[in-house]
Amino acid sequence: MARVLVGVKRVIDYAVKVRVKPEKNGVVTQGVKHSMNPFDEIAVEEAVKLKEKKLAGEIVAVSVGPTQSQEVIRTALAMGADRGIHVEVPAAEYELLQPVHVSKILAKLALEEKADLVILGKQAIDDDANQTAQMTAAVLDWPQATFCNKVEKTDAGLTIVREIDGGLETIKTKTPAVLSADLRLNTPRYATLPNIMKAKKKPLKKVTPKDLGVDTTPRIEIISVEDPPVRQAGAVVADVDALVAKLKEGGHV
Ligand code: AMP
Repeated sequence: MARVLVGVKRVIDYAVKVRVKPEKNGVVTQGVKHSMNPFDEIAVEEAVKLKEKKLAGEIVAVSVGPTQSQEVIRTALAMGADRGIHVEVPAAEYELLQPVHVSKILAKLALEEKADLVILGKQAIDDDANQTAQMTAAVLDWPQATFCNKVEKTDAGLTIVREIDGGLETIKTKTPAVLSADLRLNTPRYATLPNIMKAKKKPLKKVTPKDLGVDTTPRIEIISVEDPPVRQAGAVVADVDALVAKLKEGGHV
């Protein structure tokens, strides 16, 4: 039965107000709450659903990052993944790691693990790259179905409904393939306490990009990171004439 590899990224929690570092070369991550990337929770849920329907045999959760990345692997294990692989990249190096590197790592693991399906989130909410699934498929030379809204197994492979601008697109693909999960694919389950306890005993292997033969030299350099512009204060005007005059003054009409 199919083996599914799921990518789970540890990101700053969606509810945290992100602050730019004074050096303007990134955002403050220390002492900030982190969680599994929300789209990756959806990816894990889809894999668990496939397993419950006996369409998947084993689910392997992979996270690339510093030691703390193991936390999100444990969450995936508590949601129903069978084992984890932590690809350790020290924190300082991780700040420079780019989607192309993660894609090469995931592609290598997909082959090593003889995966039939790789399911990732459509986007990581920290870098908003939306690149990893596409590049993983390219490195593997496998078909890709991104922004999945519905995944159904057929005799020939998979039928997938994708979210596209202003509508839905239905496609068919053979496996092995790479999928990326969109928001409406499912509603991820919460990990229950007994499952969190059980997850502690599930196997978690540690490897490095070097073990996998992946070069993680940065391809791009971040020049600066800026906060979004602060909204200017508004002004109250006396009447419509004053409003029109103000708009003319500002060159808006
Ligand atoms: P991105 O291309 O960075 O927007 O990320 C898209 C998806 O790729 C994420 O939702 C994850 O499923 C996967 N991914 C990206 N970075 C990592 C990582 N460091 N570890 C595990 N999976 C990752």
